[in-house]
Amino acid sequence: FFLLFGMDKQRAQAFELFIKSDELTELIKHFHDSTPDSVTGLEIFHCLKEAHKHWKPNLWKALDECLAQEQYTKKPLAGKTLLIVGAGPAGLVSAIEAAFLGATPVVLEKREAFSRHNVLLLWEYTVEYFKRIGAKALYPRLCVGSLFHVSIRRLQLVLTQIALILGAQIHINTEFVELSSSSEGVHAIISHNGKQETFSVGGNSLVVDALIGADGLNSHVASLCKFERKVAHAKQAIGITWNFVNSRTPAEVHAEEITFSRHMLREWFDNLKKEHSIDLENCVYLCDETHYFICTAPKENLLSFGVLKEDFSSSAELLSADNIDKEKLVEYTQKIASFAELPVESLEMISNEQGEKEIQMFDFTQKQAATEQIRFVQQGTTELFVSLVGDALTEPFWPQGTGANRAVLSAQDSLFYYQKFLSSNSKEKTSSLAAKYYSKLCFSTSDGVRANNSGFGMDFSVCLLDPATRYM
Ligand SMILES: Cc1cc2nc3c(=O)[nH]c(=O)nc-3n(C[C@H](O)[C@H](O)[C@H](O)COP(=O)(O)OP(=O)(O)OC[C@H]3O[C@@H](n4cnc5c(N)ncnc54)[C@H](O)[C@@H]3O)c2cc1C
Repeated sequence: FFLLFGMDKQRAQAFELFIKSDELTELIKHFHDSTPDSVTGLEIFHCLKEAHKHWKPNLWKALDECLAQEQYTKKPLAGKTLLIVGAGPAGLVSAIEAAFLGATPVVLEKREAFSRHNVLLLWEYTVEYFKRIGAKALYPRLCVGSLFHVSIRRLQLVLTQIALILGAQIHINTEFVELSSSSEGVHAIISHNGKQETFSVGGNSLVVDALIGADGLNSHVASLCKFERKVAHAKQAIGITWNFVNSRTPAEVHAEEITFSRHMLREWFDNLKKEHSIDLENCVYLCDETHYFICTAPKENLLSFGVLKEDFSSSAELLSADNIDKEKLVEYTQKIASFAELPVESLEMISNEQGEKEIQMFDFTQKQAATEQIRFVQQGTTELFVSLVGDALTEPFWPQGTGANRAVLSAQDSLFYYQKFLSSNSKEKTSSLAAKYYSKLCFSTSDGVRANNSGFGMDFSVCLLDPATRYM
């Protein structure tokens, strides 16, 4: 195997292109060109490390250190196939943890591209976690400023690279539809290029040992597996996100990042209202691969400014394309950006595939969450372990950046519960353990993850897969 990897110049070039890829289909193609089909699972990591040890040494070191942790060395999930639906941060972290534990992670992703420019705020714990699994070695600009953040698409690309290096299988343009069963066990029905079929690898139908629903908001896995959902109502707040191209000119570099909320900085919001008749609850500006903004506004202000044409009680009607005056919306966002001291006149707003300025509006008034994180679902003669992670489990509030952070925590929890289920063979014990920590996950905050304060900053190495080591 080492010879296969090491001697082949084309494979070496493909690996270099894989590391530099900025686009999902290319990245996957280069990865397959860089690794022989006969090598699978963690063997891929060991062979790539041997073949490219002088390149990206920090990546190999980080992953070696992870694999050497006691919680992973016994490979408690060896021989198990985990089907993970969705290649967002939650699904990819689940795949990475499953690989560390010795399982075969198979990720199905319905899209072919990662296109979300929006930026995720990260907690210190999450940044340390990403560094620990080698993300910084692949993307050195990860969290270089005073505020920690990363664009969604960049995070997905980097986590995809790590998952592939660790032997996870990632199938794009593959939509999970439902489960089926045969005498061999549980299978997945997928839709690929508009055709439904049983998902197979190398001509054999995949037999699934556990299912992880990482398919985001309005999770199909959650409804298919009959997870109950609760809805929390909050004060009406409409979120608006938009991005400008970041050309890194001196004027752009000098703009200061902000994460303001009205109750913390009343004067700033009062002045914005006085000068521009714009009344916000929150305003976040982050300088990342793009200049990213997210703010929340009451609907009354959007109506009086003319962004929304008519008032409706249902958010679907209120935020329908017909009810939004696009020119007014652009004016609204430009004024906020200019008030935040960005040189708006020289900035180009990022557009969507139709060439329209990509300004997204979302209603944060209602938040959904599943009532439990894991369920055992009868499928033929098998009781399948099913777990939800990330937004599929609990809907985040973007301005506070809960999404990506809870995605990591819930993925770690989920893998721990599966491991516990296999070792105890008790549904009841596993479910009550999951119930105990699920409420802690729902209320987790940036300050709520355990760490040792060494006096030289936080040390999160005490945080392991076991939720007892992470939640206060
Ligand atoms: C358009 C959009 C903009 C966002 N903007 C922000 C923001 O500005 N700030 C912020 O903090 N958070 C934002 N979020 C939320 C943030 O992306 C998530 O909290 C974070 O990425 C963790 O999400 P996740 O991995 O659980 O789900 P996601 O990142 O949503 O990933 C779910 C994945 O599952 C795939 N999928 C869904 N159904 C299937 C299926 N049946 N088969 C196969 N694949 C499937 C989807 O294509 C997607 O790639 C945004 C989300 C969306 C959708």
